[in-house]
Amino acid sequence: MAMISLEVTDLKQWRYCARVVWYHYCLPAVRPVTALMAHGIAHHHDEEGREERRSLRPYGLTAGERHFDLALRSEVLGLRGRLDLAVATPDRASAGAEAVVVEYKDSEQRPGAHFKLQLAAYALLLESAWGLPVRSGWIYQIPLRQAVRVPITPALRRDVAATTAAIQAAVGGEAMPDPPTSRRPCVNCEFRRFCNDVV
Ligand code: SF4
Repeated sequence: MAMISLEVTDLKQWRYCARVVWYHYCLPAVRPVTALMAHGIAHHHDEEGREERRSLRPYGLTAGERHFDLALRSEVLGLRGRLDLAVATPDRASAGAEAVVVEYKDSEQRPGAHFKLQLAAYALLLESAWGLPVRSGWIYQIPLRQAVRVPITPALRRDVAATTAAIQAAVGGEAMPDPPTSRRPCVNCEFRRFCNDVV
């Protein structure tokens, strides 16, 4: 089976519950946009307006060229997605330029490993699109108005490749993944009615 183009958000979701990603691709007609998802999308757009007025200081930068809601895609990586903010510093044309990736998060909780994995996937996509190294990503926590730095390490890069391959294999093989160890994600899951074996 040919490699499908996965959403970057699938990597984060895969960590939360692999079945949700599997349902998304193998039962594509059944996924609704929940009220919570709609709220999150609206909040992200509000944040872009504020970000345009904000300095680059939260990201440890003094100069940079900002690109909001940037569509990224790579056939080689098998990934696509929309990055909240990409910054080239000092700009894309300068010798020695670098880039950073920024994602907004509507939460006060310290970003978990799944958010870092998603950010690393955006970093790889941006490197591929712009041809600039991405050594750091930032997760901007909207309620706290603070940014958390995430180094884009070799281990995170390998994790992106391994997770992408695992999702591709599961979707291509059409074998439904096991549920998560904890049943906590099942409480508000829109796929509950398909998981009679666990809920
Ligand atoms: S009900 Fe639970 S196991 Fe089933 S898809 Fe949702 S989170 Fe995963």
